[in-house]
Amino acid sequence: MLRRIRYGEADRILHLYSRTRGRIGAIAKGARKPRSRFGGRLEPFFRLDLILHEGRSDLLTVTNVATVDGYPRLRSRGPALMAAARACDAVLRLLDAAEPNPPAYNLLCRYLALLDGEQSAHGDGAGDGAAGLSTALAFRLKLALAAGFSPELASCARCGEADGLVGFSGAAGGVVCAACERDGFELSPEAHRFMVEALGCPLASAPSASERALRQAERAVSETLEHHAHVHLRAAA
Ligand SMILES: [Zn+2]
Repeated sequence: MLRRIRYGEADRILHLYSRTRGRIGAIAKGARKPRSRFGGRLEPFFRLDLILHEGRSDLLTVTNVATVDGYPRLRSRGPALMAAARACDAVLRLLDAAEPNPPAYNLLCRYLALLDGEQSAHGDGAGDGAAGLSTALAFRLKLALAAGFSPELASCARCGEADGLVGFSGAAGGVVCAACERDGFELSPEAHRFMVEALGCPLASAPSASERALRQAERAVSETLEHHAHVHLRAAA
């Protein structure tokens, strides 16, 4: 569940991202009643197994729900909870079509599991770093790739030059050479390398980089999505 909204006297509207149908809107009737048959199972970030009734409305109706994973440890840590909220918000904004996108679905599940500490960011079993900026950006880059808006990183997005890539242009949708940098901003070799490595390795082993490089990478992803997906995302961390 990406988000839930109060509706009417006792209902909830749910914004869901599903493996088989992509974005779904559903209504859970009576979910806010004290003795609702849904119990405490309709919580944000929960991974759910839902039975939905499809009527004439755009909203499906929840008829049954089982929890697949509630990520309980994620909920007890502020930074992990904030990271989960930003990730779900990014999925909500970037993947608005009601069509399946298994890579995006699997990516979100992996990130939530990582934030919950099921998998460690550094192989130490503690999950440390999963809620940090580098993993948040690696998630965002992979999500952009899954949505079809991955920035061009191999050669100048304007002229195709492979050497002397010094900037990034959101309008061009990728790295740019010095001759094409006029509408872009400076991108350090470290930030460029971070983006390439983050896309190439599993989320659980996202590369690290300096704060300055990470902020450049964040700007690169944000401007690409603003220009090409017309989506404005909140700060990554
Ligand atoms: Zn160029």
